[in-house]
Amino acid sequence: MIKMRHKNCPRCNIDIGKLAVIKASLPSRIKCPHCKENLYYKPIPWWLLTFSLVVYIPLLNTIFEYFLSILSIKTTFSEIILLSVVAFLIWFPFELLFVNYLRKNCILTIRERS
Ligand SMILES: [Zn+2]
Repeated sequence: MIKMRHKNCPRCNIDIGKLAVIKASLPSRIKCPHCKENLYYKPIPWWLLTFSLVVYIPLLNTIFEYFLSILSIKTTFSEIILLSVVAFLIWFPFELLFVNYLRKNCILTIRERS
């Protein structure tokens, strides 16, 4: 029963799924895809987010430097798009790690409208 509080919406008691968390810009701005309730996870694992950024940013920087060295000196619009896609693809495993952590260790709570 306790496990349910990590994955199920406290209002409609249906698993909100990973996509609802991925789609939210922050773990404090989750919307239940079933009943549209505003939810958040507590406690937010800031340490995990910080850790991810500490690993991600230098990794991204290294990959960008590599890309820029093989691409033309004048970066074109399509190259910027390509780099954005690459940045997103590299972030995705971190995002999944974060979502899995939230769904295992944090509690879904209804966010009161103020
Ligand atoms: Zn719901």
